[in-house]
Amino acid sequence: MSSMHEGGCACGAIRYQVSGLPALAQVCHCTNCQRRTGSAFSLVVAFKEDQVVLTGATPSQYDHRSDESGRWVRSHFCNTCGTTVLITLEKNPGVRVVPGGTFDDPTWFKLSRHIWTRSAHDWIVFPPDVDVREKA
Ligand SMILES: [Zn+2]
Ligand SMILES: [Zn+2]
Repeated sequence: MSSMHEGGCACGAIRYQVSGLPALAQVCHCTNCQRRTGSAFSLVVAFKEDQVVLTGATPSQYDHRSDESGRWVRSHFCNTCGTTVLITLEKNPGVRVVPGGTFDDPTWFKLSRHIWTRSAHDWIVFPPDVDVREKA
């Protein structure tokens, strides 16, 4: 697998490089992603730990504790511009989730499912060919 993709935070202090294809690329409609991003949903692109390399400044961390499972979801974000460049999860230790909008080309990966749709905004229309899940 030779495909490499790069991205980073808004100010450029943190950059990353991923190799290969994601295990899964999802649209997440959970309330934590809505608050974390200030938006209606987030693009969460999951890789294995060894596929992702961060360079530049060291991110700060914030642990959100799920009110559903009690486990933490950790945002790794830039101290200067606040962009979340990585998410890690207590539930999946070897997984590195990259927020899709932080890629230099945020369209290269194919979205395969929508999750936590029970909190999706009511104006969202799901494409017919994707897997739609009420929870994760
Ligand atoms: Zn930054
Ligand atoms: Zn979410």
